[in-house]
Amino acid sequence: MKTLLIGEYREGKLLDTTYELLGFAQALGAEAALFLVGSSSQLPACSNKLYLADAAACGEYNPDLHRELILKVVEQENPDSIVFVHSSYGWDLAPRIAARLKAAQISEIVALKDGAYEVGCCNAKMRRTVTAKTAKSVLTIQSGAFPVLIPGGTPTVESIAAATSSNLEFKGYEPAEAKDVDLAKAEIIVTAGRGIGKKDNVPTILALAKALGGELGASRPVVDAGWVEHSHQVGTTGQTVSPKLYIACGVSGAIQHLAGMKKSDFIVAINKDKDAPIGEIADLLIVADVMQFVPAMTAKVAA
Ligand SMILES: Cc1cc2nc3c(=O)[nH]c(=O)nc-3n(C[C@H](O)[C@H](O)[C@H](O)COP(=O)(O)OP(=O)(O)OC[C@H]3O[C@@H](n4cnc5c(N)ncnc54)[C@H](O)[C@@H]3O)c2cc1C
Repeated sequence: MKTLLIGEYREGKLLDTTYELLGFAQALGAEAALFLVGSSSQLPACSNKLYLADAAACGEYNPDLHRELILKVVEQENPDSIVFVHSSYGWDLAPRIAARLKAAQISEIVALKDGAYEVGCCNAKMRRTVTAKTAKSVLTIQSGAFPVLIPGGTPTVESIAAATSSNLEFKGYEPAEAKDVDLAKAEIIVTAGRGIGKKDNVPTILALAKALGGELGASRPVVDAGWVEHSHQVGTTGQTVSPKLYIACGVSGAIQHLAGMKKSDFIVAINKDKDAPIGEIADLLIVADVMQFVPAMTAKVAA
């Protein structure tokens, strides 16, 4: 099996998610070539073949030109699958490629199962197993779902350029609205998950965060319920954080949450379920009722 991995480059830098694509290809047992609109000064550390287009010439993002370039490489490489990260770049570009190739698209893959792909459904509470009926397929993988693979080495670069022009011009990025908290800079984060039970319990979690000199984080259901502002959300649709200490209070450990915090130096999980998935990545799992444990811990820290 042969894959074409579509790497990502933003604001002059190769994105680390490019290495998750390599991890996915390895999990698939597939031979992999890479495509990147980037710069020769930012090559991925691997010895695969790399089709490189210059971001300065065709824009860090331009759907017309990037589509044309990828289709050109597909013609040359004839891969069985074309794989993107499920990012704003991938989810915009992948369907354009799939439509042109008349290929099936499978979006936001979280795992592989017996030659098929697993994708989340029912707000990620369940998984669907799917395969493509077309010879070629276009895939997007969920960020954080597959291991990072940095093989090392230098790619064999083939430079490519777009032959056509586009009516679109890449202008740059608009900074996101200023947030009341910058979790990315926090050294300690104490996160409230759905297991805290109700909005009235948020101050108890916040008190521990403050006693430790840290910030309050939240899982998505806590934000969706309006208990905590979105600026505190950790995960794929929130912030990516890497504090020295991350305390997850009543958080189950869904992939989308883990993707945002698994690079934390030390992870403590407080959960009443000893088999909660967060236990798999936690350095310390405290099996307890969070609303009993947290006030006791805050009192100890403050003493
Ligand atoms: C496209 C998409 C994007 C998403 N983005 C994000 C994201 O950015 N961030 C995010 O967090 N989620 C995200 N999600 C949602 C994600 O799939 C999970 O649903 C969510 O992370 C679960 O949050 P939770 O762990 O707080 O709640 P639950 O999964 O309900 O877990 C609650 C946990 O609390 C424990 N618990 C219950 N009561 C107690 C108690 N008294 N004491 C101790 N423990 C207790 C339970 O055992 C359980 O493990 C996304 C989903 C989708 C589909």
